[in-house]
Amino acid sequence: MDCEFYMEKALEQADIALALDEVPIGCVIVMGGEIVGAGYNCRNMRKNALCHAEMIALNEACERFGDWRLEDAVLFVTVEPCPMCAGAILQARVKTVVFGARNPKAGCAGSALNILQAPGFNHRVEIIEGVLKDRCAALMKDYFSGIRRKIKEKKLGEMNVIKQIYLAGGCFWGIEKYLSLIPGVTKTEVGYANGKSGIPSYEKVCRGDTGFAEAVRVEYDDSRLSLSELLALYYDVVDPTSINRQGNDKGEQYRTGVYYEDDADTDIISGSLTLLGESLRKPVAIEMKKLENFYPAEEYHQKYLDKNPGGYCHIGASSFEAARNYAGGYKSSQEARGKLTDLQLAVTRRGATEPPFDNEYWNFFEPGVYVDIADGAPLFMSSNKFDSGCGWPSFSKPIDKKFIKTLPDASLGMRRTEVKSGGGSHLGHVFDDGPESLGGLRYCINSAALRFVPKSKMEEEGYGGLLPLITENEK
Ligand SMILES: [Zn+2]
Repeated sequence: MDCEFYMEKALEQADIALALDEVPIGCVIVMGGEIVGAGYNCRNMRKNALCHAEMIALNEACERFGDWRLEDAVLFVTVEPCPMCAGAILQARVKTVVFGARNPKAGCAGSALNILQAPGFNHRVEIIEGVLKDRCAALMKDYFSGIRRKIKEKKLGEMNVIKQIYLAGGCFWGIEKYLSLIPGVTKTEVGYANGKSGIPSYEKVCRGDTGFAEAVRVEYDDSRLSLSELLALYYDVVDPTSINRQGNDKGEQYRTGVYYEDDADTDIISGSLTLLGESLRKPVAIEMKKLENFYPAEEYHQKYLDKNPGGYCHIGASSFEAARNYAGGYKSSQEARGKLTDLQLAVTRRGATEPPFDNEYWNFFEPGVYVDIADGAPLFMSSNKFDSGCGWPSFSKPIDKKFIKTLPDASLGMRRTEVKSGGGSHLGHVFDDGPESLGGLRYCINSAALRFVPKSKMEEEGYGGLLPLITENEK
């Protein structure tokens, strides 16, 4: 019998398990040169502890063969059977078992081989081990190290809420003090960012021509303070339209800039700068660039205003007070942030689409406001929601265009217009097939990107100002 040929078939079964994210074990049962049963481990999918590869193959073979006795059968399995399967193999009177890799874990009573060959049973099984052993073992090893990697990544992801960004806003003494006072900012350090070459010093930078900007490296706890909030607070203390000048300080080193390390931040930063420009109706001079270099400034510049309380500062004491008292934009944001489900993350961060007709708000028409699940910004009113029949929440318009942005989207071979929140979350798409009477637009939004605040809770949650937008005829 060509053992390797049949073990290949068992490995094919194991591959199916792997594709389903199950422990990759496969089995085939051969009688008279014909495969009469095949199975792969599918415990998770079937939610059944008995659904091991061998059990499924044995079931199929018994049915096919029309008997519980499989005396002439040879069972091929990629990994040494566990005690349950070894028992079943014995009970089915299988004559020969061929397996690939040993399974040091499943043999809770030593090895399953002991059961298959226990002298107490009147039926003994012939064992052939080590067929395509390396491939069978590698499949298991890769699977389990993959799981370990996933667990590790998940833990890191949960822990790793400290993020950093570099902000330039004129003389770094004052901007550092201001930023360091914001709740959620965990560490600050002043330095020189995105210069042309050489190691900068304060003297060199002040003389000009180095290309460096006085900047602050800001570490912040993303679960307490979002990047969009941090940027909004930063805009409050800089003149965003002034080129190379803040307060009395003039020169390229006093330019304003947001320098990021993580490309995932670019949507949030560019969205935030766009909204700022729209609200100012003037060109914004704040540059947005990837961080190229950053050199911490000399020690005497660090926490300068704490060391020198009377030192010069272009930022007023009232701003320091405001930073200290910052309590988060919307009450809901503190609660919602950092607690997004996998689906909510997939939709808002990776632009996934949730299933139609199987989401929270597609068929929901209570009066209230729909806010950004990530940062609590108000997005849509119930009064603009209509039943489009598409299986997702549909709105004729946003509360205010300044809370959202639209971008062309050519993915999936379609020409669509993507809708994002000001905070950079993907929300859905906007189409021009809405009812004429409502303006002709249909904002097709994922429920997973939204949180509904009922009318009765709007005041309490800080959305009281929007209550007049709820129309009379809404119940
Ligand atoms: Zn088993």
